[in-house]
Amino acid sequence: MLALVTSDGGPTSHTAILAREKGIVAIVGAADAVALADGTTVIVDAAAGTVNDSPTSEELAAVAERIASRAAEDARPAGPGALADGTPISLLANLGKPADAADAVARGAEGVGLFRTEFLFLGASQAPTIEQQRAAYVELLGAFEGRKVVVRLLDAGADKPLAFLNDAHEENPALGLRGLRALRASEDILREQLTALAEADAATAADLWVMAPMVTTVEETAYFTTLAKEFGLKTAGVMVEVPASALLADRVLAHADFASIGTNDLTQYTMAADRLLGSVAGFQDPWHPAVLRLVREVGEAGARLGKPVGICGEAAADPLLAVVLVGLGATSLSMAPSALSDVRRSISQHTLEDARRIAASALLADDAAGARAAAKSAASAH
Ligand code: PEP
Ligand code: MG
Repeated sequence: MLALVTSDGGPTSHTAILAREKGIVAIVGAADAVALADGTTVIVDAAAGTVNDSPTSEELAAVAERIASRAAEDARPAGPGALADGTPISLLANLGKPADAADAVARGAEGVGLFRTEFLFLGASQAPTIEQQRAAYVELLGAFEGRKVVVRLLDAGADKPLAFLNDAHEENPALGLRGLRALRASEDILREQLTALAEADAATAADLWVMAPMVTTVEETAYFTTLAKEFGLKTAGVMVEVPASALLADRVLAHADFASIGTNDLTQYTMAADRLLGSVAGFQDPWHPAVLRLVREVGEAGARLGKPVGICGEAAADPLLAVVLVGLGATSLSMAPSALSDVRRSISQHTLEDARRIAASALLADDAAGARAAAKSAASAH
């Protein structure tokens, strides 16, 4: 498939995430797309958010050339991610299954910043066995010897429904028994997953970090990290996806080895806009200064406590926003492997001081469009 255009859905709906994972150019929520006739040749420019349904032959030739030169660039080996002043910023991959590891390494991923374990569970009528899970984790960790691999415990509910974890009807599942809340309510499943991870860790030589999804409180943080350590997992952290945990990041981080900001959910909960709904997709924009302020809270808390703060939501895949996130205190960025080369290039053009200045200008804006424009002009003025 060359490109994907849908008439509904938001930018962090799972259609969009899967398309990005596979490196497929995608535009979601383009209401007019239903009017396109079968057989029409179109140019889809996801960066600009446009679908050109009557391209000229010159435009088609220019696109073909752009695609070829990008492919050649992507094929060149890449060093570790760094800012222009040499500040290291690890560039990591978001992965959904172990089989995608080789492609991520080939694209220069320094490790894995988010391994979504849901693939083992979705579509299943019961949890996979410890043995089945261990085999999958061994395959994943085996591909990243000596490198960091952050595995997220099962994130069920809302956009990732799983009947055997929560079959209650909920009017607002995104605000319901999901993420760590659902795991805690079925602690046997959580314990089995931790067992499988600890066994896979013992059998491999990657640097395994584990984290819990949708953590809201300090108490939940302490619960998860204490439990993970009981299983012998040495590095345990939390995903910051809810404004409550971002606002109390200093206290959350006092109980966690690291935080990883899930900007997809953090944007959904900050803007009160369901990430699956095309009708409110306009709110689902991580450039919004309200979201950026929350990221700054976490970044500053991490710096004060000397704890790493990663970003693993789709925001990290936006080359300019990646610079802003670093300016707000992110120490690593994790994204679909197809985004790595653009982000690597973008962050290498700015020093940490630049990134902080660019972030400060975005924070002053009133809305997402203003923040984007301010960052763009600050980034070109140096
Ligand atoms: C996020 O919410 O930003 C995230 C990385 O997790 P997911 O998209 O799987 O909910
Ligand atoms: Mg999430």
